[in-house]
Amino acid sequence: MLDFLGTLQRTHMCGELRASDASGKVVLMGWINRRRDLGNLIFLDLRDRTGIAQVLITAEAGAELHKKAETLRSEYVIAVIGQCKLRDPGTVNKNIPTGEIEVVADEIRLLNDSKPLPISPADNDIANEEVRLKYRYLDLRRPEMHENVALRHRVTLAIREYLNSQGFYEIETPMMTRSTPEGARDYLVPSRVHAGKFYALPQSPQQFKQILMISGFDKYFQIARCFRDEDLRADRQPEFTQIDLEMTFARPDTVFAVVEGFLTAAWKTIGVDIQTPFPRMTYDEAIRLYGIDKPDLRLPAMADVKPAFTPEQLATLNIDPDLPIVAIVTPKVGELSRKERDDLKLLFGDRKEAKVFEDIKRLEKSFPDAVAKIREIAKPNPDDLLVVVAASKRSEVGSAAKTRQEAQAVYAAAGQFRLVLGQKFAAQHGAFARRDFRFLWVTDFPMFEWDESEGRWNAAHHPFTSPHEEDMPILESDPGAARSLAYDVVLNGTELGSGSIRIHRQDIQSSIFKALGMSPEEQQLRFGYFLEALQYGTPPHGGIALGLDRIVMILAGTNSLREVIPFPKTAKAVDLMMDAPTPVSEKQLKELGIAVVPKRDL
Ligand code: ASP
Repeated sequence: MLDFLGTLQRTHMCGELRASDASGKVVLMGWINRRRDLGNLIFLDLRDRTGIAQVLITAEAGAELHKKAETLRSEYVIAVIGQCKLRDPGTVNKNIPTGEIEVVADEIRLLNDSKPLPISPADNDIANEEVRLKYRYLDLRRPEMHENVALRHRVTLAIREYLNSQGFYEIETPMMTRSTPEGARDYLVPSRVHAGKFYALPQSPQQFKQILMISGFDKYFQIARCFRDEDLRADRQPEFTQIDLEMTFARPDTVFAVVEGFLTAAWKTIGVDIQTPFPRMTYDEAIRLYGIDKPDLRLPAMADVKPAFTPEQLATLNIDPDLPIVAIVTPKVGELSRKERDDLKLLFGDRKEAKVFEDIKRLEKSFPDAVAKIREIAKPNPDDLLVVVAASKRSEVGSAAKTRQEAQAVYAAAGQFRLVLGQKFAAQHGAFARRDFRFLWVTDFPMFEWDESEGRWNAAHHPFTSPHEEDMPILESDPGAARSLAYDVVLNGTELGSGSIRIHRQDIQSSIFKALGMSPEEQQLRFGYFLEALQYGTPPHGGIALGLDRIVMILAGTNSLREVIPFPKTAKAVDLMMDAPTPVSEKQLKELGIAVVPKRDL
């Protein structure tokens, strides 16, 4: 028989009761986390958002109350009216903040019961993630999930407060808009009023924030939801949250200082002081030193060891003298066995662009001078693993642009291998286990990237990104070498965010659209309003967007975005709790003027 709450008021949160509350009357409300029945003594762990309090139902409380307590089960919702008392010294629990007290119940009201549970909020480890997502309301009751959600709140608030203190306005932009060119597929929303027409959910508020700069708002930010219909990966969500900002008259430095400021505030929420300013590195340096545009600085950079070899030695080794030769040092791996070296070869994989020398001792036998020089340049400690990556001699040498691409491929292969080694030997070098946050700015990204399948240049960041002033003359003649004013903020090998200084002149914007293969008609059709807006006194401006979900994930110390998004989708973009997406009724489709073609007929 359920009771009503009536006029009863909660006096304390369960997890906040302390010794100083002892000897007073308290009213607690919450869920039964666990119940232990010792016959004439029944213990209840009562849980709410703040934690757990121990409730005691003694025989002296009377047969009726005792009988009621016997019927209670996990996750029943109750109100307890009782006396807060100090526990006997022998029964104090030092592991929980309320461990010095207990509440002796005088009355219990059963506010709701619960069916037997598919998963228990009292368990820390629930292996089956599908069940967790289907019963997300139960999963979210777990203290661990409460902590993640609370952390997300604190981080978001800290960022908001910082940006407010710097004079930023938080401004909302529409969810129903038109396609934005961030490079992914759009989620579309059909219009009933304009049958056959569609809104797109924003991939980012990019154009709106630029318009806000044109409108003179000077400093904008938004904790913005973005939607991208991309091929799914474990660490991606179709909808995600960005800390999005834009500033008028900004140079990269201006943006960097703001981002460093709010990241400092975010990291303070976990009690960590991060070092600012963050180091900087151009994209070219990142590729040469790390073989990747998001370097993980926790392991040593790669070293260019070409000078260690004479031309004759390179010829004997069948190494291409015009492509990179780099050494990778992985600390503290020690001497490798034959089998381990064979495994390394397998890890490196079958690559046509590069080859690996994983047995340095063997190389040393034939080329002692070269290896001595390699050691001089790469400076490994005696117990470090040293491997060399180079390219086989090419059968034909193409244009400078082709050679540049081939060189990049060697750096990329070496960079990938450096990371694989880092993962494989994580236990030995220990660099990933420490709470070490190595931030970095990567600057001067290429303006364009070649799209092999489409046979044309794409914007490497997005088409509103300003070219580097110095590279304006080569935009058309050598697009592959043109740099942009785009930058990324990187942490321990993860990209946290990207941004750029934007194009603020209509003529340049139009020529970039042209370079991207857009005819004047197409430019008008897709961006006519924007090209027009640029002609009415647009100030120079720039900005950035950082992924909030990923930042909270790192701060929470988990490795899945789903742990820090209250209602995430699965890797197949399904909401298991609500069961979305679903078919809709014929009537709804008809109103929208939409007919669904079965997938097999597409
Ligand atoms: N809109 C960009 C993005 O979502 C970020 C920016 O350039 O500010 O990647």
